[in-house]
Amino acid sequence: MSKITKTDAEWREQLTPEQYRVTREQGTERPFTGDYQVSEGQGIYHCICCGAPLFENEHKFEAHCGWPSFDRPLAEASVEEHTDTSHGMRRIEVTCKRCDAHLGHVFPDGPSDTTGQRYCINSVSLDYHPNE
Ligand SMILES: [Zn+2]
Repeated sequence: MSKITKTDAEWREQLTPEQYRVTREQGTERPFTGDYQVSEGQGIYHCICCGAPLFENEHKFEAHCGWPSFDRPLAEASVEEHTDTSHGMRRIEVTCKRCDAHLGHVFPDGPSDTTGQRYCINSVSLDYHPNE
């Protein structure tokens, strides 16, 4: 998978202001406002910026935190994780490997019967494609 790089002006043209703020400026959507708090069936969540497949609905769980949460990415290779020390916290930021879009953060408080991880992801950074 080759990297996608675009200028800020190109991203601004492609994205809504809210999508731009979250994915290109490390923003966070307000909790309980996103589109993907509840979604049923099977399908794949793609990066809103570049279309890369990132998460599977099968790995989504209800974390009651106000953002869609997954216990793992679709594939190890689809996302990157970075230490983020902004806002006086030490967190692990999750970005799209293909285009570096900010997606959210991963916390080690996920369901202990699976991976134990909680990928807490902004809805606006995702585009859901249900399976046929
Ligand atoms: Zn992307």
